[in-house]
Amino acid sequence: GAQAKRLGRNRSVGYRRQFDSHAGNRLRLVQELHRALEREEFELVFQLQFDADDRPCGTEALVRWRHPRRGLLGPAEFIDACEDSGLVLPLGRWVLREAVRHWRRLDERGWGALRMGVNISALQFQESLVEDVGQLVAELGLPRGALELELTESVLLANPVDAGRAMGALNAMGASLAIDDFGTGYSSLAYLMHLPLQRLKLDQTFVRDVGRNPDSEAICSAILRMAQGLGLGVIAEGVEAWHQLDWLRQRGCDEFQGYLLARPAAFDAVLERLGASPGRGVVGSAARL
Ligand code: C2E
Ligand code: MG
Ligand code: MG
Ligand code: MG
Repeated sequence: GAQAKRLGRNRSVGYRRQFDSHAGNRLRLVQELHRALEREEFELVFQLQFDADDRPCGTEALVRWRHPRRGLLGPAEFIDACEDSGLVLPLGRWVLREAVRHWRRLDERGWGALRMGVNISALQFQESLVEDVGQLVAELGLPRGALELELTESVLLANPVDAGRAMGALNAMGASLAIDDFGTGYSSLAYLMHLPLQRLKLDQTFVRDVGRNPDSEAICSAILRMAQGLGLGVIAEGVEAWHQLDWLRQRGCDEFQGYLLARPAAFDAVLERLGASPGRGVVGSAARL
């Protein structure tokens, strides 16, 4: 009777407090993120990608927040709050512009054949991506295939008809399109076949299991065969071991990204790494003599 009521109320008060403090934290975080954008506390790191002959073929731009007290934060700490608050729109615009600016610096050094991959959030894709990319291309100019936009399956499934149309428009502007974390979502092959897509990014959970989980291996093989059939490129994400790379390469995987080959790094470190790699031309061959 009365006791149960009291207990119930106490429980709900405790719950309420917890909820308030969670909401309060989120609010503070969003305020901090607003300031971070104004104060330019965000930066990009870049992770090189390699083809089956070990040549660099691209790089993915990954956002970081240089927090004044907490140090360098990864997207897991703030991307959701950006998405919920709409801040991901100005942040995403900034990321796109910075990524393109850095691609041009690569191009100046003779590495213009590398792609620049940029992660796109659901809200950004729905709201402003076509416009943002259009503006960038008009303003800065960009050869076909220099910019690759990484979309997730859930982003595409949210609104299939519009997704296809937006992707067509992006392709027409010269941006290529990849599905990120492929294999973790629910998109069907029949659906994918009708989208203007260039590449699948095989999710790291499958790559991690190569050599130890036959089910994951079967999925990897099937994805690779399917991609070949559809004329799509496949890049394996999260490659951490040689046996993973060898296994995937033997089954026709085109490209590789992971700590084994390169960690995400500041742009200057990437340039340094490229400068020392074979095939660089004058500087590279001189360094090898
Ligand atoms: P993602 O696009 O799947 O990026 C790959 C993530 O895997 C990166 O984490 C990268 O550092 C990490 N990674 C790379 N190689 C390895 C490896 O060999 N082993 C392991 N365990 N991990 C590896 P990061 O930088 O923390 O980014 C996490 C996610 O945050 C990204 O996943 C992407 O979905 C999102 N993200 C990153 N930058 C942006 C951005 O500018 N905008 C948006 N909307 N999302 C972003
Ligand atoms: Mg990505
Ligand atoms: Mg991924
Ligand atoms: Mg991922």
